[in-house]
Amino acid sequence: MIKNLNPVPAFDIKQQYANIEAEISTAVLEVLASGRYIGGPAVTDFERQFADYHGVPECVACNSGTDALYLALRALNIGAGDEVITTPFSFFATTEVITAVGAKPVFVDIDATTFNLDVEKVTAAINHQTKVIIPVHLFGLPVDMTALMEIAQANNLAVIEDCAQATGATWAGQKVGSIGHVGCFSFYPTKNLGGCGDGGAITTNDPAIATQLRILREHGSKTRYIHEEIGVNSRLDAIQATILQIKLRYLDLWNSKRQQIANYYYQHLSQIANIIVPQELPSGVGVWNQYTIRITGENRNGAGDKYRDWVKNQLQEQGVNTMLYYPLPLHLQPVYRYLHYKPGQLPIAEKACQEVLSLPMFPELTQEQQDQVIETLKSIF
Ligand SMILES: *Cc1c(COP(=O)(O)O)cnc(C)c1O
Repeated sequence: MIKNLNPVPAFDIKQQYANIEAEISTAVLEVLASGRYIGGPAVTDFERQFADYHGVPECVACNSGTDALYLALRALNIGAGDEVITTPFSFFATTEVITAVGAKPVFVDIDATTFNLDVEKVTAAINHQTKVIIPVHLFGLPVDMTALMEIAQANNLAVIEDCAQATGATWAGQKVGSIGHVGCFSFYPTKNLGGCGDGGAITTNDPAIATQLRILREHGSKTRYIHEEIGVNSRLDAIQATILQIKLRYLDLWNSKRQQIANYYYQHLSQIANIIVPQELPSGVGVWNQYTIRITGENRNGAGDKYRDWVKNQLQEQGVNTMLYYPLPLHLQPVYRYLHYKPGQLPIAEKACQEVLSLPMFPELTQEQQDQVIETLKSIF
């Protein structure tokens, strides 16, 4: 047991703020003094910068990653009678929005090494009702977008990339969110580009989709007080936009720190029995929103199939905080009982839920903290 060390948090957003506090305070005070709290240059400047960062012509900012996905489905006219193929291993928002627009989520199992949608299994799930595929670049590791776009094109389907955990990741040299028809981003504080509150954005190469998104996020209105359809109120606050402009300048640096930490974890954890480390595909450059390992092995220490939970508790007792992303797959969520999925139907995702453990991962994680995580894990096994 390692004693007398401070606990390592799973993430620490206060540290990041402390490093850029002066810049943020100045910019926020400027917005407060300007009186432009909704819309205005802070928002349009951020939209332009975020579009340029992704090499796309259009960015539409909104209130959250969830809204980004919802608005994307609405802009593509997805609704009752349509099917949307996605992963069962993601944050609930990915499928919540499919249901919210009245469409049916169709879950395809994941790949065991990347935790992402198993692209080879997608074609078998396509039928005449299928309209969209939503790949999730989970934990910041890109999905095989080359193979997925081929399938989408062959079947005339739209692709909405859920990039909530992957801002800055690339597939074959292209930023995720610029490859599919629409890219959806979250600026929730713990994401790679996190604001100081809620926020989201949608990227697209298609100006017609962008126009539709702008109408939908503004109460279905193009001309003020003239409403052409039922939309929502989903805006990025000017204060968040000004903060995100500053943080966007640091994003590549922060992502490279995450990559260094992921490499260090890989070097020291990949040889430990009972641990399977995550791996990216050859054409993908991940940005490691999470570093999620699998704990394998059953009935050790009398823990049975709750071995991972036992390991998590041991780590916590020894001062290493971890997270469970995600303990229950989406197809087995209580709210989706009406879809009639059965346990065992998507076995790789279900097994992942039993085995995953997300280690401390944030750019400011020090060398000492990384060593503390590694040494504590080694002492447990
Ligand atoms: C965070 C997240 C979302 C939702 O983003 P919010 O900004 O919290 O609404 C959607 N999908 C995935 C994969 C996420 O991690």
